[in-house]
Amino acid sequence: MARVWNFSAGPSCLPEDVLKECAAEMMDCNGTGQSVMEMSHRSSAFEPIIQDAEAMVRKLMKVPENYKVLFVQGGGSTQFAMVAENLGIHTGKAAYIETGVWAKKAAQEAAKLGVEVTTIASSKDKGYSYIPKVEKIEGDYDYAYICFNNTIMGTHYEYIPETGNIPLVADISSCVLSEELDVSKFGLLFAGAQKNLAPAGVTLVIIREDLIPELDACRPGTPTMLAYKTHADNGSMYNTPPCYTIYVLDKVLHWIEKNGGAAGINKLNVEKANYLYDYLDNSDFYRATAEKGSRSLMNVPFLTKYSVAGATDEVVLAKEKEINSKFVKEAEAAGLVNLKGHRLVGGMRASIYNAMPLAGVKALVEFMKKFAEENK
Ligand SMILES: *Cc1c(COP(=O)(O)O)cnc(C)c1O
Repeated sequence: MARVWNFSAGPSCLPEDVLKECAAEMMDCNGTGQSVMEMSHRSSAFEPIIQDAEAMVRKLMKVPENYKVLFVQGGGSTQFAMVAENLGIHTGKAAYIETGVWAKKAAQEAAKLGVEVTTIASSKDKGYSYIPKVEKIEGDYDYAYICFNNTIMGTHYEYIPETGNIPLVADISSCVLSEELDVSKFGLLFAGAQKNLAPAGVTLVIIREDLIPELDACRPGTPTMLAYKTHADNGSMYNTPPCYTIYVLDKVLHWIEKNGGAAGINKLNVEKANYLYDYLDNSDFYRATAEKGSRSLMNVPFLTKYSVAGATDEVVLAKEKEINSKFVKEAEAAGLVNLKGHRLVGGMRASIYNAMPLAGVKALVEFMKKFAEENK
C-alpha cells in the first residue's frame, strides 16, 4: 500500500525522512545492537539523545537561558492541571481567554483545583470562529492563560496579549515550531508532541525558572509528578521518560533545522495555508469556518454549501450529513485521509502540520475541485 496524504489533527503525519531513519535504526541504533525502545533511559546510549533533543528545542526556539526545557508525560491535558497547581499559588486567581474546547477544558481543570478562574474574554458568541482582541491583561492574577492555536476551531492568535508582570501561559500544542515565537513574552509554554513534533507520549514544557515553585509551595496536595520542580531538578528523568518518542522528537527537530528552522518552516506553512484558504475563499461550494485575521496555518476546518455552521451530529441537516460523509469517503478512496471535521464544527478539517508537504495540499485542492464539480 502506498503512503496516503494524512490530514489527521493528531496524532498526525511525520516527515517521511524521519520515519525512514527510524526504520533503518530499528534493530540497531548507533551500533548498540538495540532499538531505542529497548534501552535503559540511564544508559550512555540514550542520555545523549534526550540532551540533544533539549539542545535542539533551545536552538530552534531561541529559548532564553533563564528558561527550563522539560519533557513530561500526560499530554496537553495534564498541563491544564500542572499549570494551575504550580502557578496558581499566590493570589490563587487566574485569567483565561476562552477560544474553544481546549481553553475551556484548561479553565475548568484550574477551577476544579480551587483556582479562582476569571474568563476575561470569549469568542463563544460566534461559535469560537475568531480570536477576541485582548491587547492588555491587568489584575492580581497569578497567571493569564491562552490557547494559541485552536486545533478544533482552526483559529490562531495573530498577536500576543500584553500582560505586564502577569506570567502568560500558552498552549501551543498544535502550532509549536510552525512559526517563530518570542519565548521571552511567555512565562510558560507547553505542547503535546503528537500534533507537530513526534508521536504521542511526550509533552514539551518551556518554563521561566523563577516560576517553578518548590514542591511544598505548589497548591496543597500536588502530586510529586505534577510539580515542575521534580522534572526540572532531574533533567526530565525523575522517572522513566518516553524514550522512543523523545528519540523521534529529536529527529523531527533536526528535520526542521534542515528545512530552515522555525522561519523556514513558517514560510512553507504560509504557502500551504494560503493555497488552501485562497481556494476556499473563492469557491461557491466550500467555505472556511474561521474568520480572516484569526485563521490557523495548521488546522483548516471547512464546510460545503449544504452545511450549517456549528451544526452538531445530533442537529444536522440530512443533506449536509450526506454530502460531507460522501466527501470524506471519496477523499479516503483517493488517498486523502482523516478529513472528517470535529463534531463540534461539523464538515471537514484539513490539518496541515509541518510534515505535510505542499504537494499534499495541492492534491487535496485538486480533489476538492473535482468533488465540487460532481456534486454542485
Ligand atoms: C490535542 C490538544 C490538546 C490535548 O492534548 P492531549 O495530549 O491529547 O492531552 C490540548 N490542547 C490543544 C491545543 C490540542 O490541540
